[in-house]
Amino acid sequence: KANRKFHPDDTVVDVAGVKIGGGNFAVIAGPCSIESEEQITYCAQRVKAAGASLLRGGAFKPRTSPYSFQGMRAEGLDLLKLARRATGSPIVTEIMNTEHLPLFENVDLIQVGARNMQNFELLKAVGRQKKPVLLKRGLANTLEELVMSAEYIMAEGNENVILCERGIRTYETSMRNTLDLAAVCMLHKMTHLPVVVDPSHACGQAWMVPQLAKAAVAAGADGLMIEVHNNPAKAKCDGAQSLTPDQFDELMAFIAKEVEFFGKTL
Ligand code: PEP
Ligand code: MN
Repeated sequence: KANRKFHPDDTVVDVAGVKIGGGNFAVIAGPCSIESEEQITYCAQRVKAAGASLLRGGAFKPRTSPYSFQGMRAEGLDLLKLARRATGSPIVTEIMNTEHLPLFENVDLIQVGARNMQNFELLKAVGRQKKPVLLKRGLANTLEELVMSAEYIMAEGNENVILCERGIRTYETSMRNTLDLAAVCMLHKMTHLPVVVDPSHACGQAWMVPQLAKAAVAAGADGLMIEVHNNPAKAKCDGAQSLTPDQFDELMAFIAKEVEFFGKTL
């Protein structure tokens, strides 16, 4: 179902009215984690004003250490919905567990994170519901495996899948991960699904995010996912890779022109 051979036209995924793919470019932005009502609402207003069409914010966080902040969980989802009400931006957030699916009924785009890319029961469960799914590439997964995971979701009846390249593990240690930009080209050859790039998790360092974001647009990405925090130095998760709202404004001014240059609409 994901194979380009049997479906030559690009798929356009509609996320509560925001289109991604087939010439429609969308930016997903917001903090790694929802921390308070003020924090998520402020970030929501700033990323929307800068031109992001979707708001992200993690409520259930897949942290490496069990002693790190685990997210505000169900309460965080409620705050994210308040931020949606305040701005009108559709919301994107990560699901980690099949049992949590009822909590995600009112979420506009359900994210399956890198660590769950091959959680096949979770893939089947999000495939059995109607909301679009943002499927992130696993930390050490091939493109073939990523496409097969999309196939799991699509085989259950949900064909609204957006793929996300977010960096992979390599022998390089100076960056959090290695951004595989060629994956954008190859995924577009292999599949008809939209491909977005997350430069924030790929490099782990805010100063590098704008350059990688611009490169992703040039590589043909259908969208970007960028972490933006009101106060990165105090962020409960992923502060080092988060842009300030002012830095995001500056990046978006460039991205808007670049997207137009490549003949797409933001
Ligand atoms: C995230 O988007 O906050 C996240 C945890 O991403 P990934 O699954 O790509 O690590
Ligand atoms: Mn993060």
